[in-house]
Amino acid sequence: MLSFSTDIQFLKGVGEKRAQLYKKLHIETIGQLLYYFPRSYLDLSQTKEIADCHSGEICAIRAMVIAKGREQRIRKGLSVFKVKISDDSGPMNVTFFNAKYTVDTLEVGKEYLFYGKMVSGGLNAPLIFPLDGPTRIIPIYPLTAGLTSKMVSASVQQALSLIDEDLPDPIPQSLRQQYSLCHLHYALSNVHLPSDPQALEIAKRRLIFEEFFTLALSLASVKSRHSAATSYCCQNHNLEPFYQSLPFTPTNAQKRAIGDLCRDMSSSVPMNRLIQGDVGSGKTLVAAAGIYAACQNGFQAAMMAPTEILARQHYDSLRKFLEPLGLQLQLLTGSMTAKEKNLAKQRIKSGEANVIIGTHALISDDVTFADLALVVTDEQHRFGVAQRAKLSSKSQNPHTLVMSATPIPRTLALMVYGDLDVSILDELPPGRQKIDTFVINSTKKKGAYNYIKDHLDRGLQAYIVCPLVENGEVDMGLTNASDHAAELAAKAFSGYRVGLLHGKMKAKEKDAVMEQFKNGEIQLLVSTTVIEVGVDVPNAVVMLIENAERFGLSQLHQLRGRVGRGKEKSTCILVSDNRQEDTLERLNMMHKTNNGFEIAEYDLKARGPGDFLGMRQHGLPQMKIADLSSDMQLLMQAQEAAQQVLAHQTIMTEEERRLLQNSVRTMLRSVGDRPN
Ligand code: ADP
Ligand code: MG
Repeated sequence: MLSFSTDIQFLKGVGEKRAQLYKKLHIETIGQLLYYFPRSYLDLSQTKEIADCHSGEICAIRAMVIAKGREQRIRKGLSVFKVKISDDSGPMNVTFFNAKYTVDTLEVGKEYLFYGKMVSGGLNAPLIFPLDGPTRIIPIYPLTAGLTSKMVSASVQQALSLIDEDLPDPIPQSLRQQYSLCHLHYALSNVHLPSDPQALEIAKRRLIFEEFFTLALSLASVKSRHSAATSYCCQNHNLEPFYQSLPFTPTNAQKRAIGDLCRDMSSSVPMNRLIQGDVGSGKTLVAAAGIYAACQNGFQAAMMAPTEILARQHYDSLRKFLEPLGLQLQLLTGSMTAKEKNLAKQRIKSGEANVIIGTHALISDDVTFADLALVVTDEQHRFGVAQRAKLSSKSQNPHTLVMSATPIPRTLALMVYGDLDVSILDELPPGRQKIDTFVINSTKKKGAYNYIKDHLDRGLQAYIVCPLVENGEVDMGLTNASDHAAELAAKAFSGYRVGLLHGKMKAKEKDAVMEQFKNGEIQLLVSTTVIEVGVDVPNAVVMLIENAERFGLSQLHQLRGRVGRGKEKSTCILVSDNRQEDTLERLNMMHKTNNGFEIAEYDLKARGPGDFLGMRQHGLPQMKIADLSSDMQLLMQAQEAAQQVLAHQTIMTEEERRLLQNSVRTMLRSVGDRPN
């Protein structure tokens, strides 16, 4: 009998070579194979008549083989077969390439289902199904070269027939009953080989539930690790000196958030708070107040940022806020020399440094803090759950504060942040102007360049942003940042100081360019999305984004937030030659509103959470079957079920408990410590 941990090579037809291919898909065991779900399904019950099939369409046709042509050798390695088929509405040609075996199995005078793409001359290389086959719904798997859906399907079928029908189910029976979920064996059988559409739905519902349920339990287990009492009660806080030293008055929203922070930090329950605020709402200031409060009580505070640029920028702005108040700040990033790093680590360990700002370097094992009371992570969706937990583990249950500029709809926030308390900065500092946003196609680009030049001539600055382009894509008319920068500097912007910033540059080079842009040496910065997070140059007032259709709206909104930071009216120009209606509508949304929350909601509906939420970036595992936006109802139920389990209200056997722990462990392992 097979079990989930049996090696996949146990299956007939899976030798060493095929096992290697499966390994590429992270499938090494029977369990992994059975949890490798079809990407989609062909519903062969929806057939078309030949006369109704149009070129370019994918069609399922039920037809009889009329005649088979002889093999034609076009050239070495390419042989073509023509087959004539017909239904009541008329005949059609079918062409097969290098498919002698398939054509041999076809019998003249017999009916089959043909499934494939129509081209002008007929059907090309269709899939063929016998009419007396077991199922009308065919699974299509996400594949790697060398593996076909048929092969995977055959392996799965074999595995299912060899595995115990009564196999152990990670969802306890009592919960299956409560939420009307089918047994695991039924679910796996019908997700791979659905007997009919209803069975497929029942199977999917159960598997989606399982995935959410396990996710909710996994997140809870990460959280529970730091819920014990903290010894960092920050009971003295007099923020007057801090407020006095500011060059401006905090907004009411900022004051409210700071109030939340101080209240949380004066308790012995560790703070676990999220600050959500649109770009430019002034989150750094709120964090600075919390840091000041921690230091006033004699403790250290640390802030972790996802990039070097951002860490340095925070270091600079926090210095302005905090050094005049007598605090010692220390930067720690990967690009510092070994000597600098050692010195930094000493100052951190001895407690000489009160405020520590850095990148991932902060969580490396040889960094020890003297008395870390507050951990702040900025733009935290870039960090995994595990990375955040690691920084917190450098101290005994410190207070934690995460800052996010990605507004997240409530239901999702519940899943991603669990029981974090949330402060929302729903107010921008006074004097900010709406950023005017336009969508144009590339025929209008010349005018846009002139518009940018007008601004540069007035001593202002601008960005041109290009999407990340993989080598293979250069031909597709996409704009690559480095080529583009060279071309712009030589042609459209000759005589202007053009700089380039992209992710492959060394941290030092990036910083140098950013520095030059900040102090005005560079007028026009051509960049990939590395400027996305938090970079602050108030004198930059125009942003042009190439191939804008390649970005999610939330990302465009983040990018756009790099302008509109000063007194001057700012503009964002989205360039796209994509004429698809939904794309245009999506981009137009940017024209309509400057509100990040509205944009996020829209993006979630239009593109699903994968892009927008960046599951990986959140440190959440890639979902195999569940989809956070469309399966919201199930998500809530699964969360409720997880709560029951955690509150020990679910009746389960020892065996069931063990299975559940196992799937939680597997899911947590799949997240791991993931670098950006
Ligand atoms: P974000 O929320 O996007 O991280 P920042 O903290 O970078 O925003 O703040 C954006 C800019 O606004 C900074 O230049 C900051 O100094 C400024 N700022 C923050 N709070 C205020 C305020 N209350 N009044 C005026 N300017 C402010
Ligand atoms: Mg910021």
